[in-house]
Amino acid sequence: MSRSLTSQLCWRLGHLSSRTAPALCVPSSSSTRKQRHGGGRHAFSTTSRRQIMETTGFTENQLTVREAVNQICARFPPTYWQEHDQTETDPTEFHAALAETGWLGIALPETLGGSGLGISEATMMMQTITESGAGMAGAQAVHANVYATQPLARFGTDEQLRKTIPNIISGRWRVCFGVTEPNAGLNTLGLTTTATKSADGGSYSVKGQKIWITCAQVASKMILLARTTPRDQVTKPSEGLSLFCIDLDRSQPGLEMRRIKKMGGRAVDANEVFFDGYEIPASTLIGQQGKGFKHILHGMNAERCLLAGEALGLGYAALGRAAGYARERVVFGRPIGQNQGIAHPLADAYMRLEAAKLATYHAARLYDEAAAGNSGIKQDGVGVAANSAKYMAAEAAFTACERAVMTHGGMGYAAEYDVERWFRECLVPRIAPVSREMILNFISERVLKLPRSY
Ligand SMILES: Cc1cc2nc3c(=O)[nH]c(=O)nc-3n(C[C@H](O)[C@H](O)[C@H](O)COP(=O)(O)OP(=O)(O)OC[C@H]3O[C@@H](n4cnc5c(N)ncnc54)[C@H](O)[C@@H]3O)c2cc1C
Repeated sequence: MSRSLTSQLCWRLGHLSSRTAPALCVPSSSSTRKQRHGGGRHAFSTTSRRQIMETTGFTENQLTVREAVNQICARFPPTYWQEHDQTETDPTEFHAALAETGWLGIALPETLGGSGLGISEATMMMQTITESGAGMAGAQAVHANVYATQPLARFGTDEQLRKTIPNIISGRWRVCFGVTEPNAGLNTLGLTTTATKSADGGSYSVKGQKIWITCAQVASKMILLARTTPRDQVTKPSEGLSLFCIDLDRSQPGLEMRRIKKMGGRAVDANEVFFDGYEIPASTLIGQQGKGFKHILHGMNAERCLLAGEALGLGYAALGRAAGYARERVVFGRPIGQNQGIAHPLADAYMRLEAAKLATYHAARLYDEAAAGNSGIKQDGVGVAANSAKYMAAEAAFTACERAVMTHGGMGYAAEYDVERWFRECLVPRIAPVSREMILNFISERVLKLPRSY
């Protein structure tokens, strides 16, 4: 990291410290819990949350990011996320707080107003967000801004970058990522949304449907993947797809969206988006026409790392909360954590998270070193590391979240204790952006050289 970047982060820390409590942990009210458990010597209190991840071995930059982002997150306690989850209200203030302090540009080049940091630091930022108690809702509120902007920054024209990136970093425009389609699913190359160029070449007409598009209701821009050459006219299905950075202008004909009712992360909207002759200027094309799939591939390993970080944060938050409860909840005259039936599953969940953490930051480091031009690092190796990390982190988070609910007994089912919210959310890293079955397929085929099963 250059001196200027270090001082940029230090400035941010100083800037934040003057306005926020310097505590790194998220405080949460314990009054109602004390009432329920009698308020006596062993009453359960959650006045402070200890962060349990072992931080030895992280770089100074990563730890600086963790500290600074923690300070912002401390302004949004679990009660904020409980309320937003229950009312299905967008965490606009949270997105604005990160934008205001420049964090949305963490992995964008300094020349475009970003911080020029790597995926190693961006992963730490996303982990810190979920770990603060914000959970996947907090991460999803900013995920596309950090990730979907990567192909734009890499392949966009000077004019696109100048007009778009500063508005995304400042939070004026929010972004969503439009890839998944109902009839294609994980088979992205089977997508059927088309973008057809007009006779004068000045615009494209978009027709088709996307599904599960996070933040489409609040986004002004969508990074859209659509077919520009019919599949029967290309030699490989990966050809003929193009990437666009389009306006989501609801006042224009041919654009409709419908919110999907979902299990978790309810603060953040997920949508079906329908295009029916929606017109977009030709200048919205990112990179080369027909090379869109190649352009998004560029960022896929980065997204795996970010998702792995998000899963880790969720797992550590749930486990920390479970350990706190197990220390303080007294049944049969002793803290429940004194029973090995409670303690050992939590200790086991901790080690799974720590192992997944090593895999995650190893993958992120490989990604950054390859991006910086280290020719000794092969893309295949980055792909294996990033996919493995996403798989392991998602599984470790699931284990931690499920055990956190069970440790709380009946209270694990109460919204007030947060662990039920995190449990609902911990399924997302298992499903998206690629399911665990597809990662198992990838490792079977690419590493173990087993025959392709599909
Ligand atoms: C909360 C949430 C947010 C999302 N946000 C976005 C977003 O912002 N933008 C976006 O574009 N997408 C988004 N997605 C979509 C997400 O990336 C997809 O849901 C995911 O890729 C899985 O696709 P699918 O749901 O169509 O599953 P399907 O493809 O229908 O698969 C269903 C099941 O079958 C299994 N399966 C399928 N084929 C095989 C095979 N060959 N071998 C073994 N198992 C197989 C899968 O592993 C899975 O378990 C989001 C999804 C969720 C849940």
